[in-house]
Amino acid sequence: MPQARAPLYPWGCIWATVPDMGKIVTAPAMLQQRFRGSKTMMGLLPVGQNMVTLFWSLPSAALEPGLPIDVEAWRAEALTLWPEMAGLIEHAAWAGNFARATYRQVTLPRWNDGPVLFIGDAAHGTSPQLGQGANLGLLDAQVLSAVLAASDDLAAALALFGRYSLEG
Ligand SMILES: Cc1cc2nc3c(=O)[nH]c(=O)nc-3n(C[C@H](O)[C@H](O)[C@H](O)COP(=O)(O)OP(=O)(O)OC[C@H]3O[C@@H](n4cnc5c(N)ncnc54)[C@H](O)[C@@H]3O)c2cc1C
Repeated sequence: MPQARAPLYPWGCIWATVPDMGKIVTAPAMLQQRFRGSKTMMGLLPVGQNMVTLFWSLPSAALEPGLPIDVEAWRAEALTLWPEMAGLIEHAAWAGNFARATYRQVTLPRWNDGPVLFIGDAAHGTSPQLGQGANLGLLDAQVLSAVLAASDDLAAALALFGRYSLEG
């Protein structure tokens, strides 16, 4: 869509999925994060089958393809930040199999182009750190269902959708 904006966030992360032998994250079944200031963050997300996805924030510039990840330096820093998670950190460092993720903030001037409607991340992608993207997508679906039920005129329904969604 013309005037769509999707600037890269200055921060992204590395990811690794590891087994949770001690059920330290999978038993409470909750996302856990630990921060030091605003520049160091590690997260642990239970993803089923006794596995945990570990993520570690890094500046996007450090995540360029081809730039090496210093796993040993990461291991030492992660152990200092969150020593209780040593088992997961050591496993991730040993496997050394990190994926890289960068994120964009997506904004559109309007959410439909004629009969084509953008919802979810396609309309308003946010940082996963906010933990709200799926919720926003579900709200879009709920509003869309309501405006379609309220009118037989597709153009009017989509205009109404845009008004509700952009004005809250
Ligand atoms: C690491 C991470 C953590 C997150 N944590 C949270 C959280 O805690 N809470 C929360 O609310 N949200 C979270 N989110 C955000 C959430 O996952 C997204 O906002 C949500 O999945 C968006 O849903 P969607 O249906 O709009 O898009 P998607 O889930 O991306 O679905 C789009 C689908 O379209 C398919 N597709 C793409 N191109 C084509 C094509 N050309 N043809 C056919 N199919 C295609 C894709 O394969 C995909 O299945 C997180 C995201 C990430 C990456």
